Amino acid sequence: MAPDSPSIELPRRIERLVELTYNLWWSWHPEGRGLFRKLDYGLWKAGGHNPVKILREIAPEKLKAASTDPAFLQLYDSVMADFDADMAATDTWFASKHQNRLIGPVAYFSAEFAIHSSLPLYAGGLGILAGDICKEASDLGLPMVGVGLMYPQGYFRQRISIDGWQEEIYSRLDFDKAPVLPVFSSDGDRVLATVQLGNRLLLLTVWQVRVGATTLYLIDTNVEDNSPHDRDLSARLYIADREVRIQQEIVLGIGGVRILRALGIQPSLWHANEGHTSFMMLERIKEKVAAGMAFEEALRDIRATTVFTTHTPVPAGHDVFSTDLVDKYLSNYYAQLGIKRESVLNLGQSSHNDGGFNMTALALATSEHCNAVSRLHGVVARRMWQGYWPRAKKEEDVPIVHITNGVHVPTWVAPEMNKLFQQHLAADWVKKHDDPELWARVADIPDEELWKVRHKLKLKLVNFILELAQRDWSNRVIEAQQVVAMGALLHPEVLTIGFVRRFAGYKRPALIFHDVERLKRIVGDPWHPVQIVFAGKSHPADSPSKSCLHGVCTSASDRDFQGKIAFLGDHDMHTAHFLVAGVDVWLNNPRRLQEACGTSGMKASLNGVPHLSVSDGWWHEGYNGSNGWSIGDGVHPDRPEDEDRIDAESLYSILEQEIVPLFYERDRNGVPHGWIRIVKEAIRSVVPVYCARRMLKDYTNQLYLPQLPAPAAGHQHIPSAPDIP
Ligand SMILES: *Cc1c(COP(=O)(O)O)cnc(C)c1O
Repeated sequence: MAPDSPSIELPRRIERLVELTYNLWWSWHPEGRGLFRKLDYGLWKAGGHNPVKILREIAPEKLKAASTDPAFLQLYDSVMADFDADMAATDTWFASKHQNRLIGPVAYFSAEFAIHSSLPLYAGGLGILAGDICKEASDLGLPMVGVGLMYPQGYFRQRISIDGWQEEIYSRLDFDKAPVLPVFSSDGDRVLATVQLGNRLLLLTVWQVRVGATTLYLIDTNVEDNSPHDRDLSARLYIADREVRIQQEIVLGIGGVRILRALGIQPSLWHANEGHTSFMMLERIKEKVAAGMAFEEALRDIRATTVFTTHTPVPAGHDVFSTDLVDKYLSNYYAQLGIKRESVLNLGQSSHNDGGFNMTALALATSEHCNAVSRLHGVVARRMWQGYWPRAKKEEDVPIVHITNGVHVPTWVAPEMNKLFQQHLAADWVKKHDDPELWARVADIPDEELWKVRHKLKLKLVNFILELAQRDWSNRVIEAQQVVAMGALLHPEVLTIGFVRRFAGYKRPALIFHDVERLKRIVGDPWHPVQIVFAGKSHPADSPSKSCLHGVCTSASDRDFQGKIAFLGDHDMHTAHFLVAGVDVWLNNPRRLQEACGTSGMKASLNGVPHLSVSDGWWHEGYNGSNGWSIGDGVHPDRPEDEDRIDAESLYSILEQEIVPLFYERDRNGVPHGWIRIVKEAIRSVVPVYCARRMLKDYTNQLYLPQLPAPAAGHQHIPSAPDIP
């Protein structure tokens, strides 16, 4: 099953660039990125750091020149050697600790995957988590395949109109210039599978994305023999229409299992990321029933090899389908499960009276191991699902554990911070970044050096915004006032707060505007000014969120704010890299108990940007009193209006009394030693704990391995991806 080798002609000496281009391994290895920058810096920058696009568009003379340039060749040889070593590594953490425990890979199902901005198949944190897990699995040597949907139109691209409203732009992914490859079977045809949707049969095909040693399989309904409507079924992510959503989820869950079978992949474990993927478990029951097992036995069997992660702390956030829709699309499936319609529908019954088929309930019924994504979320999830386990007398008895999320450190560390850590922690710090002892050495970094790097990162952010503004202005995409609103008046010396995430209501993007006059005083202080950068998308069907976003954009062009409030449009992984490292303070103010974990603050802390956050999600366990600030501590009123008022008051006073004075208190060389102390403590305390490495080791030790039979000698690992001949 070889992916079609893309027809890119390269000089022989550097022909393996194609292979590297189609493995996103390069994206978390600085020398890999360096190689493509060096090849054509103009195309690298203009194309949004997309090597496939570079290889498709680069002038042949440049390739030829590179193939004889000793400096380029030296880098090329060293990158390829690192790549080969990683891909063939036998001394990985998993291999050395748990050799032979997994016969087949872990199959990780998710509705979104965020691997790189050139593959926009994500809306936010859920996708980032899935992408970070795929990368970390590769780094740890844990065999894994990802299963998701190919959304040719992705989520959407955001544009801000002249009057400050979000506009959604949908464009089709140019498959020729994206790091995806079609998958062919040994007889040369595209790998296909089918699913029944009500009374029609849908054909599915599959693409593959290489993420180091992990392979991601993306299912596509755009097959010629499908009807035009069906060909577009997987066109967009998180479509509001419930009927399209249930069909997408059948394609992902049921189709995903069938695609893996068609590929000849036999997973040892199945990990369902959030309820969107739960039909995967039904299909595996069906397989066993078809082979002659009784339903109960099949259920017991598949439960034992299923892990489910829930991310939704509010009942209204769960994926629920009406019984009518379930009947419409699955009624011919009921008999194949070997049980009556009522029994199938029962699997989706929650205790929340949501009057339908709840995908989280289905997941809980069909997974032996369930987890929430932070300690506090574990408490909330057990409380929320206690009614589901009548035998759980106490909340603690509910069998949902927690594994707190973490971020993939090599992906999210800024190059400048990476160098600083190489100099002062260890040249190979990345290899042992979940070791707390390594991070004790942060104390030894001279304040002046750390401050210089922090300043440089802010300058990079300001320059990035300026270049975008210049590009959009000269292309006549925006008018002068929009140039200001997107941040052209930001100043690199000024204390900068970032509020950057999806504009979901519970995240309260506009909380800092609660008392506009007070905010104007804070921002406009002539000696100690403050500026705020916002970025994030509203779901296209979420009108309150869009109004909120409009409010923020209006403030950004309000002259009273002096150009010190900015809204940077079209937030994605690319802008995220500049923002998480480039601001001074990372603001997070969700309504309490509604942010399951949150991960952007971890990326910020990693880069020396302390977290200013409500004590929710990971910050509830991550805040230690000296690594950032906690908003509204200890007081949790019931009424939302009161919560807003109290949290806003707390936010203002922390800014006025602690953050602003500390940031501007300098020695005679302009270095803020008090500030640096917090920066260092943020790095030291956050990185080794809130990294994807710690998280995936926890998943492996607590949820994956206990389900597997004891180690058997002599088993060979089945590679997670077919080999390219
Ligand atoms: C990290 C990240 C997120 C998640 O942010 P939260 O803190 O969980 O709200 C969303 N979008 C992008 C592009 C990210 O990089």
